[in-house]
Amino acid sequence: MKIKKEHQVSWSLTWRFATISFFSFFIPIIIVSALGIILYQFGKIEWLTPPVLLIICMFTSLTLGLIVSAYITNLQTRKANEMTKVMKKVANGDYTSKIPVPEKQDALYYPIAINFNKMVDELNSTAILQSDFASNFSHEFKTPIMSIKGYAEILQQVPTLSNEKKAEYLAIIIEETKRLAELASSTLLISKLDSIDHLENENPTKIDQQIEECVILLDNSLQKNNIIIDLDLTPGICEVNNSMFKEVWINLITNAIRYNKKDGSISIKSYIDKSNYIVEIKDTGIGISDEDKDRIFERYYQGEVSRISKGNGLGLPIVKRIIELEKGTIKVNSKLDEGSTFIVSIPLIK
Ligand code: ADP
Repeated sequence: MKIKKEHQVSWSLTWRFATISFFSFFIPIIIVSALGIILYQFGKIEWLTPPVLLIICMFTSLTLGLIVSAYITNLQTRKANEMTKVMKKVANGDYTSKIPVPEKQDALYYPIAINFNKMVDELNSTAILQSDFASNFSHEFKTPIMSIKGYAEILQQVPTLSNEKKAEYLAIIIEETKRLAELASSTLLISKLDSIDHLENENPTKIDQQIEECVILLDNSLQKNNIIIDLDLTPGICEVNNSMFKEVWINLITNAIRYNKKDGSISIKSYIDKSNYIVEIKDTGIGISDEDKDRIFERYYQGEVSRISKGNGLGLPIVKRIIELEKGTIKVNSKLDEGSTFIVSIPLIK
């Protein structure tokens, strides 16, 4: 992850400390020496010979310099002690503790506090992810593994199985293995997306062209399901991560195919609204109940039909996370038995 320049401890700070240390000794030397010379010139004090004067000047200025730099150092160490307390709490697993952020002018502690708090946020989200992940992971992965185990045991223990049955069970095992692999890569992708706060955007992307490319990629599936697709796309360029954003369209169009009715249709329309590019993906499918509408973006959530058709409930959460990372939004309008419209809004390039 890149650290912004203003969040780095700069060289100017090193020079500032060096200058403070220099002047905390230099100024007392000047003042004490000037006083000594005045006393020597006008005071007519007999014992104040030049060597005595020099020794007095040296000791007084050193003592004063020491006091000034001890005071400055104490100010800094007080903040450092406060930070150490918070760091100890975080080290003991309390990911809610944060360092109070000082003024931006505090060139030493401002970047430390900003970066430390960012690290705590990351640790916190990873901790939440890990606990959610553990329960969802075991539940979602157990089903296909149990199914593979069951069919493999039958194949091993029942020697009288017909060749037809053997082929059928092997096909199920292969299908379940494929599902496991997809589940694993989607789980890895969502945890990767969780661990970052922005996507690398290589080049401005022509979104209308990207959607067309995705439709071509899904042509086989469209034909297999006898679904007609209608495109009405306005040219629009957005600064998004090209390959990640392809995931968005592929997921949304795949869902529009998967949850469509027989001989159904899909229409994809895009237009510009102020500084945003809007894409509407509409299907004539089974629709989503109001109850489900609130849950479809949750990780591993699947509607009844999807459980039967063996989705994994990670498609829409991945889509939402990618869109959020690109500062866009997604919402859904749907009516049971009539169809759904997913509306994606992405900021246009400035
Ligand atoms: P998956 O499709 O693998 O189950 P998703 O996260 O893509 O996972 O979708 C979550 C749920 O949202 C699906 O199980 C399904 O119930 C519902 N859903 C998504 N897209 C549509 C759609 N176009 N029409 C109807 N239901 C949908």
